[in-house]
Amino acid sequence: ATVGVPREMGSGERRVALVPKVVERLRAKGVEVVVESGAGLGALIPDELYTAAGATIGDPWSAEVVVKVNPPTTEEIGRLRSGATLIGFLAPRTSPETITALREAGVLAFAVEAIPRISRAQSMDALSSQANVAGYKAVLLAADRSTRFFPMLTTAAGTVKPATALVLGVGVAGLQALATAKRLGARTTGYDVRPEVADQVRSLGAQWLDLGIDAAGEGGYARELTEDERSQQQKRLEEAITGFDVVITTALVPGRKAPTLVTAAAVEGMRPGSVVVDLAGEAGGNCELTEPGEVVVKHDVTIASPLNLPATMPEHASELYARNVSALLELMLDEDGALAPNWDDEVLAKSCVTRSEGEEA
Ligand code: NAD
Repeated sequence: ATVGVPREMGSGERRVALVPKVVERLRAKGVEVVVESGAGLGALIPDELYTAAGATIGDPWSAEVVVKVNPPTTEEIGRLRSGATLIGFLAPRTSPETITALREAGVLAFAVEAIPRISRAQSMDALSSQANVAGYKAVLLAADRSTRFFPMLTTAAGTVKPATALVLGVGVAGLQALATAKRLGARTTGYDVRPEVADQVRSLGAQWLDLGIDAAGEGGYARELTEDERSQQQKRLEEAITGFDVVITTALVPGRKAPTLVTAAAVEGMRPGSVVVDLAGEAGGNCELTEPGEVVVKHDVTIASPLNLPATMPEHASELYARNVSALLELMLDEDGALAPNWDDEVLAKSCVTRSEGEEA
């Protein structure tokens, strides 16, 4: 097969779908790689490193398989050949119109978001690899905005108490946030509506906050809370949050608006100088005062809602993403490196979002 790597057009996007190391690996499997000139520049990868790895520089859109990071624009969909395969973040739940356009264009599109979260597919799990970057970076942002130290310091000028950090929503991003805050010296606490997370939280040296709400849903995700559960949760969190210097929120329910966990009253109850970093901004945010993409200060508490944090660490984010993409791609290749997707494989059947059930491609 030939694989094309376009330059990502979104503003602020610095990631690229394949990196030279992964190009080498695909070349060894009989795959040709065509990279658009400048595609890697945001991640500080010049064209020469791609050619040294065996890629050619040229038009990526004429390739059999196009690999991207972000969903294609209308213009990009227009450049895809009918019969082409596309792999990338395609936001199938939140922008079904993109999927319809791809289907109408005759594109076989694989959304990395739709890859089942099963053990065998872990190497392909781009949601996880990018959430790891976001969880890590969220803590650094919180530390940067805080008026206080994270670690306990014993100095000649006296002792400084360690910061307390609460992570709301402990999926992949939340676990990384807990681990990172701990490494910086904070006292950490985690909260989630999936009780199974408690042991993972404790294994990271954090306390588990139990509010007595179990909302484990399907496939390891949370379900939406009932009206009653929601108001109970907000009230109990309001009391708990007062004691924390830093609150990192990551709570998401697939396909829904993000739940409000930190109310305006909860922010008002925080000590001046405290920080909330809301990673759910793209889905509307977990804090009532969040303005997605902005940093606001209310009652002397900073509320930051950065969007697309993975793009701010383009080198490692691209490297990890490239490995995810090539693992998925390799699943579709035969021994000679030709495309031969087996639709009995649930990973391929579920991640392909433009093919209807039972259809032969
Ligand atoms: P996510 O981004 O969808 O959500 C983040 C967290 O928010 C979740 O833990 C969720 O339970 C929590 N949440 C939702 N509503 C909440 C509320 N009202 N209050 C508090 N918390 C709330 O989750 P994710 O990081 O994508 O992880 C989803 C699942 O996938 C997890 O079970 C994770 O362990 C699993 N997973 C499995 C694999 C694998 O086996 N291949 C890999 C990665 C993740």
